Amino acid sequence: VFDEFVSRFGDLLAPLACIQCRNVPATPDMPLCRSCIERLAWWRRVDGCPRCGAVQAEPGACPGCYSSGSALHRCHTLLHYDDISRDWIPRFKQRSSAFGPALDCRIAIEFLADELARRLAMRRAAAPDLIIPIALHPRRLRQRGFNQSAAIAQRIAKCLGLRLAPDALVRRRHTPPQATLGMDERRSNLRGAFRARRRLDAFERVWLVDDVLTTGATLDSAAEACLAAGVGEVHGLTLAATTTRRPESRGHERSREVKTS
Ligand SMILES: [Zn+2]
Ligand SMILES: [Zn+2]
Repeated sequence: VFDEFVSRFGDLLAPLACIQCRNVPATPDMPLCRSCIERLAWWRRVDGCPRCGAVQAEPGACPGCYSSGSALHRCHTLLHYDDISRDWIPRFKQRSSAFGPALDCRIAIEFLADELARRLAMRRAAAPDLIIPIALHPRRLRQRGFNQSAAIAQRIAKCLGLRLAPDALVRRRHTPPQATLGMDERRSNLRGAFRARRRLDAFERVWLVDDVLTTGATLDSAAEACLAAGVGEVHGLTLAATTTRRPESRGHERSREVKTS
């Protein structure tokens, strides 16, 4: 642990390199150099819903998510999960020392979370009463030592002055790594994987936060647990999303009518 402390202390003293290209010095506020920032694939409104691909003119429920029976009211993301962001976003899940993920990675993720918060405020996204991170199974939390989604949710909550409930959800099942499964398997694997620790009837709108959206199966399942606990509507927030258009999910009962207000 002492060695880890020394190396982490060294991290603090050494000038930060750009997390992407590693050669231009970055600053604590700007963990990527200017040219890497310019190469980031920002998610634009015309790119549509990160979960279903529907392009939405009106605020309110996403028509694509609604028609596919998703428990999500709508989704927001910041980046396309492409070659550049794939290089370092997953590193945030790795513990580099007893102190959690590497410092440069943590600063970069905080930068993205701040940027997502800023854009949500700019778009006048309907503010939630509560912000909840996707829960990790206790076993995985012990292995990893921290929950990356909770760190992102905490940052967004702090930026926008929102109420955070880091432990509102529980992950009941220790599921196999999702990356090894096909989409239908992911959905059935995750059905009923979450439950809320307490009733959430007091909350009309909740933002549910995860790091990356791929099929949306994790967010769907966690959103169902929120609706079952009494939340009015659930919005999904992620830092990045894969660009592939996902076919609509099937055989998926809605827990509650979506409000279109
Ligand atoms: Zn760079
Ligand atoms: Zn959608």
